[in-house]
Amino acid sequence: MKFIFVCPENNKTFESEDFEIIENKGVRTDQYGNKTLDAKVALSSPCPFCGKKHIFHANEMICPFSAV
Ligand SMILES: [Zn+2]
Repeated sequence: MKFIFVCPENNKTFESEDFEIIENKGVRTDQYGNKTLDAKVALSSPCPFCGKKHIFHANEMICPFSAV
């Protein structure tokens, strides 16, 4: 499955399916009842814009199904 990432260096978006989920602590529920995934996503291949292997928090991810 492809995810959409945003390069923090160039602020450009790109699609990649070459990533892995690290530090997955599962789904957490905050005091308002909102569920968030407490995990980090690390690129397995370098960013096409700056060549770095970015690590994103799951909260920063843009869901490919909700992206406009
Ligand atoms: Zn980048």
